[in-house]
Amino acid sequence: MPQNNAMWSAQAHMPTVLADSQTVIVKGDGAYIVTADGQRLLDAAGGLWYANVGHGREEIAEAAAAQLRTLETWHIFGRYANQPALDLANKIATLAPFEDAKVIFTSGGSDSVDMALKLARRHWQLQGQPEKLTVVSRNDSYHGLHAYGTSVAGLSFNRDGFGPGTLIPETLLIDQWDIEAAERTIRAHGGEKIAALITEPVMGVGGVVPPPAGYFERIKELAKEFGFLIIADEVVTAFGRLGTWTASERFNLEPDMITFAKGITSGYLPLGGVIVAPSVSRQFYEGADAPILHQGLTYSGHATVAAVGLKNLEIIEREGLLAHVRDLEPILAEELEGLRSHPGVKAVRHIGLMGGVDLADDVAGLAVVAELERHGVHLRNLPNNILQISPPFIITENELRLIVGSIRAALDTVLAS
Ligand code: PLP
Repeated sequence: MPQNNAMWSAQAHMPTVLADSQTVIVKGDGAYIVTADGQRLLDAAGGLWYANVGHGREEIAEAAAAQLRTLETWHIFGRYANQPALDLANKIATLAPFEDAKVIFTSGGSDSVDMALKLARRHWQLQGQPEKLTVVSRNDSYHGLHAYGTSVAGLSFNRDGFGPGTLIPETLLIDQWDIEAAERTIRAHGGEKIAALITEPVMGVGGVVPPPAGYFERIKELAKEFGFLIIADEVVTAFGRLGTWTASERFNLEPDMITFAKGITSGYLPLGGVIVAPSVSRQFYEGADAPILHQGLTYSGHATVAAVGLKNLEIIEREGLLAHVRDLEPILAEELEGLRSHPGVKAVRHIGLMGGVDLADDVAGLAVVAELERHGVHLRNLPNNILQISPPFIITENELRLIVGSIRAALDTVLAS
């Protein structure tokens, strides 16, 4: 039977999706996307924070095609490997904020979170501290939607409704703003029971929230005091979103593991992974009786995906895109600060090439996003009525100013109606 509405959209109210017409994107070109009815939109969201080198790169398509013609992939289980996966792991290790990094490949961000959190628990079992099971995360955080990411979700609507408790037990939420409140929660729980704390260096989906001053310094002290691991969830921030290869580097977070996805391929193919510091990896690498970590997915280290990842990193380096992000950071800051006094705006936050605009209670984010499309700008409305600004790194200064100017114009229109 022919069917034309079989695709169950992600994070969507399906009756509304089917009642309104869907926006089908048919082409990407640099910082722009084109809809099925021919409208060209400036991609001010970078897709879902992934389109870092921009859309439609011929040389990435060529890298994928060349690898597909040679060897689509060969898995990396046991003693097998493929060259692009080996090369990409070695390249990523040179970009990590610690020496002797090891790289576990996955297929995306949620996979990486699942992998890192399982590895944290495995670590303490091997270290003879089996009581260390709890994973701490921050209110409003987003760590993907696998069972572990759902269990540690700070955005409650992603966690609730699956029955009592969390899908995976032993989790603890702490305050995202107030480090003293967070510390009280950790002490009340029993810090010695904590295996790891997972944190986005800059909270993304939760509203583009840079860390409050001193937050991570205190987290690092608590990690030392209670002996828990720090996992930086850099699915959004790794590979340049803040103008550094990792946000951990920028904030001197000194994590034991870094999860990554999105920016490693700029979205051209699905890839994720975990960068693991020697504090965790060493025990698996040394000695004849080293244990096996039972990790690995069929597509871990997929050769074509890895070839795309290598090409993507080559482009970021060759075109100096990290420096460009650093140049754009003050422009975005200046523009967004100018929006702060707008009656439709409650607050603005920005860092690197990430911005968040908290809309006033009487302003519907979806209406603003729809109005922005009329101005030729695609933006995303985050869950708490917050506009997300995270354009491709290749955007120009003028285009960046145009995005914020269009937000202002769209807010004026929505407020007037
Ligand atoms: N972690 C963070 C910080 C994210 O922002 C996301 C996705 O937005 C994920 C994990 C999940 O990644 P994926 O959607 O690739 O599974």
